[in-house]
Amino acid sequence: MLSFWEKNTFLQYDYIVVGGGIVGLSTAIAVKEKQPAAQVLVLERGLFPSGASTKNAGFACFGSLTELLVDIEQMGEEAALALVKMRWQGLQLLRERLGDENFGFLQQGGYELIREAEEPALEKMGEVNALLEPLFQQTVFREAPEKIKEFGFKQEQIRNVVYNPLEGQVDTGLMMRQLIALAQEKGIRLLTGVQVQKLEEEEQRVVVQVQNPVSAEPVFFSAPKVAICTNAFSRQFLPDIALEPGRGQVLVTEPIEKLKFKGVFHYDEGYYYFRNYGKRVIFGGGRNLDFERENTTELNLNQRIQEALEQQLREIILPDQPFTIAHRWSGIMAFGPDKQPVLRKIGERMVAGIRLGGMGVAIGSGMGAAVARLLTGEKAA
Ligand SMILES: Cc1cc2nc3c(=O)[nH]c(=O)nc-3n(C[C@H](O)[C@H](O)[C@H](O)COP(=O)(O)OP(=O)(O)OC[C@H]3O[C@@H](n4cnc5c(N)ncnc54)[C@H](O)[C@@H]3O)c2cc1C
Repeated sequence: MLSFWEKNTFLQYDYIVVGGGIVGLSTAIAVKEKQPAAQVLVLERGLFPSGASTKNAGFACFGSLTELLVDIEQMGEEAALALVKMRWQGLQLLRERLGDENFGFLQQGGYELIREAEEPALEKMGEVNALLEPLFQQTVFREAPEKIKEFGFKQEQIRNVVYNPLEGQVDTGLMMRQLIALAQEKGIRLLTGVQVQKLEEEEQRVVVQVQNPVSAEPVFFSAPKVAICTNAFSRQFLPDIALEPGRGQVLVTEPIEKLKFKGVFHYDEGYYYFRNYGKRVIFGGGRNLDFERENTTELNLNQRIQEALEQQLREIILPDQPFTIAHRWSGIMAFGPDKQPVLRKIGERMVAGIRLGGMGVAIGSGMGAAVARLLTGEKAA
């Protein structure tokens, strides 16, 4: 049972955001930037954000050559370019908000490993560069075959390397800690360990029902406007949305004294990705080996994928270099029929910003800004 004081002071807000990942926090921050006096509450079910934002590999990227070729084929040039722009602008907004040194942002460049199967993509590199030139004012992709030897890869497997100087990497943990700190500095309330059970739109407000950890009775928060930023976990509120969860698995090695590469790396159309973190290697992917079992919101590991990751680490990424795996984990992404995230008004008082796919570090800040615009009723610039 709640006290008079609790009912009077803790339950009513101007805006409530459900989900404390990068999109939820960015939405709350963007609302506060527009309306500094607004009372804004973020409700997060985990002890800390517990979906994808604290679990990812920390690539600050906007698509490798082969990924962009697939996007262009599936969506057409205009939509593919618009998506690249959204990712790039999102990254700039994140950097402006946090400051590079505060979240380990390093622009050490990105590389795509080209195996025999991907070699035909090189013929289309000029076309993709021409498409991107107006946005970046420079040539984005170039061949760098000399890196194969320098980075210690095997020429029999890796036929070429495509270099992109604009890709960067972040310290995912610092990024999220800084976003939380910024939200709190702006006076946003963040309550963690709070599972939202139900959202009900009434004439004047949305009632947000949450589980109370100390009582069987639920607690009812309310606000005139609510944002749904629950990404892969959104079917609970939006059962009809075209959204599939997709688990991503990652491992990190112990420091490797003579590690030969720095930067972020992709191969197999982005299904595999690795990077250095100091002298460690962070390596993830392999979802395409078992799509069916990885279509889940369970934060577990898949033995088959973990074994495949280890094998690739031994044979492709660190051939002839001993390593020890320090830790493994997984996180949950959200996918749809195409790579477009979902930004949608739900009824009169709710907005959803969800389905961020595998590039939410890049899109998340911009998505939060877009949710905040719809929520506050402001027109896009
Ligand atoms: C393994 C992995 C590697 C990745 N690598 C990269 C990368 O290198 N670069 C990149 O750009 N992107 C990467 N991504 C994708 C990126 O992390 C996501 O797109 C992004 O974090 C999505 O942010 P979000 O806020 O929409 O979702 P989330 O971070 O999932 O946030 C949603 C939040 O809602 C909370 N929630 C859910 N239901 C409820 C409820 N009922 N009540 C209260 N709270 C609730 C969840 O606990 C969660 O914290 C990766 C993802 C994974 C899993």
